[in-house]
Amino acid sequence: MTTQIQANRALFDEVMVPNYAPSAVIPVRGQGSHVWDQNEKQYIDFAGGIAVNCLGHCHPNLVAALKEQGEKIWHLSNVMTNEPALRLAKKLVDNTFAEKVYFANSGGEANEAAFKLARRWALDVHGAEKTQIISFKQAFHGRTFFTVTVGGQEAYSDGFGPKPGDIVHAEYNNLDSVKALISAKTCAVVMEPLQGEGGIISPTDAFVKGVRELCNEHNALLVFDEVQTGVGRLGALYAYMELGVTPDILTTAKALGGGFPIGAMITTTAIAKHLKIGTHGSTYGGNPLACAVGEAAFDTVNTPEVLNGVKAKAELYKAGLNEINEKYHVFAEIRGKGLLIGAVLTEKYQGQAKAFLMKAMDEGVMVLVAGANIIRFAPSLVIPDEDIEEGLARFEKAVASMVNT
Ligand SMILES: *Cc1c(COP(=O)(O)O)cnc(C)c1O
Repeated sequence: MTTQIQANRALFDEVMVPNYAPSAVIPVRGQGSHVWDQNEKQYIDFAGGIAVNCLGHCHPNLVAALKEQGEKIWHLSNVMTNEPALRLAKKLVDNTFAEKVYFANSGGEANEAAFKLARRWALDVHGAEKTQIISFKQAFHGRTFFTVTVGGQEAYSDGFGPKPGDIVHAEYNNLDSVKALISAKTCAVVMEPLQGEGGIISPTDAFVKGVRELCNEHNALLVFDEVQTGVGRLGALYAYMELGVTPDILTTAKALGGGFPIGAMITTTAIAKHLKIGTHGSTYGGNPLACAVGEAAFDTVNTPEVLNGVKAKAELYKAGLNEINEKYHVFAEIRGKGLLIGAVLTEKYQGQAKAFLMKAMDEGVMVLVAGANIIRFAPSLVIPDEDIEEGLARFEKAVASMVNT
């Protein structure tokens, strides 16, 4: 006799650690930019699993790669290397500034590796005094204790005992605030080339270039966290490519696996050599299954059709959102780049981004928030134009119902 478990939202409260507050909706199936819940209700997905599902749900290339590798070999450990990892690494190297790759399982882990490498590089090359990490207020770099402390929201790192030290926070888009902190003791400046969780904030040209110059002057490494912006999200393979600035270390995750967990830190040979044998590692990092899916995602995204498509689809979103705003006057600004778009709520709707998200769910469209005042869109990079139109029509109904309540 087997008892059937009722996997419903109530069971979450019973058996899950209460660190999340998930929606009552439990999706069970997805295809492209469509998702169905337990009651067969259909949704248009503008959330993309928080900028992860860069090719929508169950993209045939990713399903094929997963099935093929799933019947070959899943896991070996780093005592041995494997073909998918080597191929994906080669593609990352051939298509970016980088010469060396370290694989992890998530964005936080990729950043953890980046920060440890920056500290070790500084120790080896410049001595024990050079440990300061400068990052930015509102920045997000993951939830491990090191990465959350480098992140710019103290509330996320408070309450867990003594924090990793020598980490300071400057203001994004304020070069003087970086100048005031940077010195010979700075080992790295860590930044997102567009702040995602922090509110969809693009850097100014003068700011990114100024940060690069300051890093050069003070022998500090520039670390770009492209966990959210990378793999086509902003319309280039990596955001740095359109900023006229090259980082020393770059981290990538989220879209890298198109929904399968994988992360990577990429850098130059001269910097990479400081992570000597035994200095860092991961049991699963670079496992064949993740890398096989990652390779298929990378190949599928890294084409002119998909990357140019991101730019065209971004225009559709902006036009559609502006139209909605002309009728309902709920947004103070629509910003972002590529398919990472933020709609900033007006004064009247401050703090209500989550309420908009819930109304959107009711109307059959999944969106995200970035803080309490911004609705965020991070759809599949290959979302069909019809789905954008249908999703925006549903979103308009949600906006109308917010305005009329
Ligand atoms: C999501 C995110 C992370 C953390 O990635 P995880 O896979 O959740 O560890 C780090 N940096 C940025 C910019 C992110 O958006």
